[in-house]
Amino acid sequence: MSSSQNDRERLSTNLIVENQFEIAANLIGLEPSMQVLLKSPFRTVSVEVPVRMDDGRLEVFRGYRVQHNGARGPCKGGVRYHPEADEEEVLGLATTMTWKTALLDIPFGGAKGGVQVRARDLSQRELEAITRQFTRRIALFLGPYRDIPAPDMNTNPQVMAWMLDEYSAKYGYTPAAVTGKPIALGGSLGREEATGRGAMIIMQSYGRDAGIPIKGGRVVIQGFGNVGAHLALFLHEQGAKVVAVSDVNGGLHNENGLDVPSLFEHTYIRRKPVAEFDGGDAMSDADDEIWKVSCDWLVPAALGSVITKEKNANTIDCKVVVEAANSPTTPIADKILEARGIQVLPDFLVNAGGVVVSYFEWTQNLQQEPWTLEQVNRRLQAKMTKAYEIVRELAESKGVPWRTSALAIALRRVADAEALRGGH
Ligand code: NAD
Repeated sequence: MSSSQNDRERLSTNLIVENQFEIAANLIGLEPSMQVLLKSPFRTVSVEVPVRMDDGRLEVFRGYRVQHNGARGPCKGGVRYHPEADEEEVLGLATTMTWKTALLDIPFGGAKGGVQVRARDLSQRELEAITRQFTRRIALFLGPYRDIPAPDMNTNPQVMAWMLDEYSAKYGYTPAAVTGKPIALGGSLGREEATGRGAMIIMQSYGRDAGIPIKGGRVVIQGFGNVGAHLALFLHEQGAKVVAVSDVNGGLHNENGLDVPSLFEHTYIRRKPVAEFDGGDAMSDADDEIWKVSCDWLVPAALGSVITKEKNANTIDCKVVVEAANSPTTPIADKILEARGIQVLPDFLVNAGGVVVSYFEWTQNLQQEPWTLEQVNRRLQAKMTKAYEIVRELAESKGVPWRTSALAIALRRVADAEALRGGH
């Protein structure tokens, strides 16, 4: 396969999201005028982010904040720092946030932000300067009842602390203005591992219903960052056998199951490449090889558009694809997997744990009352399980893929809120 063939099918996040929208909108017979309204973003802010770099040069970055829909509550979504975080990608991700918050029935809409920058080239001072400048430029459109940012790719609790500081300098101390903050600044217990925990809850529920037990099940995970590493740890605790993982630098394979707690320490805590861990065979070309390992559960937990017709949809050997990353499966690949009888658990169900606990964080900040870890985890379990059950019921009653079912539920909720609010 030539790389251009592969590129042709590597659709942008926004195109993937649009294609999925059409299918679900048709299932629920969504009126054409409502379709137009729900497809387009409420507001797109594009700002220049001028920053003095360490070598004295003035660099001008481009930053975006897209507020896709706020009918069900303030817009909510992460901020990513990545060279490809352009307006189109940010719109696709903001749209997915609208469906995710609606599906999980939390009182938020959807947003996303991005600054086009190669984060790994930045010093800590430059990272802080970009964050503060970007926040100042979009602050007018933020706020606990307007739009609440959170961390995403290459941003973290420290970045949220700087955002909070800039916002508070302008409007007074407002911890509910961002989520994913350090605990010392009003962050929530359980937030860091929430996305991995939420994904594990969905896998447990599906495993029970479909007769694919987690205990003894074989798992392959692409990406060993916040989501992939925590999920691996939780699955290992449940008795799963994690047989292969990869990160941006390479991969590791062990047919007997990797020693996940030690690998977690090596990679997530000490920030070393997975391939350098002494407990499996390093993969020479992990981007290719990771998809060839036979397993029960295949978990993309890194990038979008990694399961494609040209690359691997016809050959991956698993029972279930668990979309921990956003938009990892292209629409054509989705169809191929469906025809092959491979279940795809969709991203905005699987990886919703992060935004659910962000909602808990916002609630704790507004109530000025911290919850215990046990309270957070119990309520996360309840939210994830409820969303899982309604998606399964509709998928089974209508005979449609889970993605279509999940999106149809979300679309209906957002459309109803839009119609009730009126004003158009
Ligand atoms: P992260 O930056 O902590 O980790 C990303 C991981 O992917 C790293 O291990 C990195 O090395 C790896 N990676 C990057 N390129 C790769 C490649 N080509 N091959 C293999 N591995 C590669 O990010 P994260 O927070 O774990 O997010 C992962 C995905 O989950 C993203 O799609 C993100 O949008 C999505 N997501 C994250 C959260 C959250 O709360 N963190 C919530 C919802 C969705």
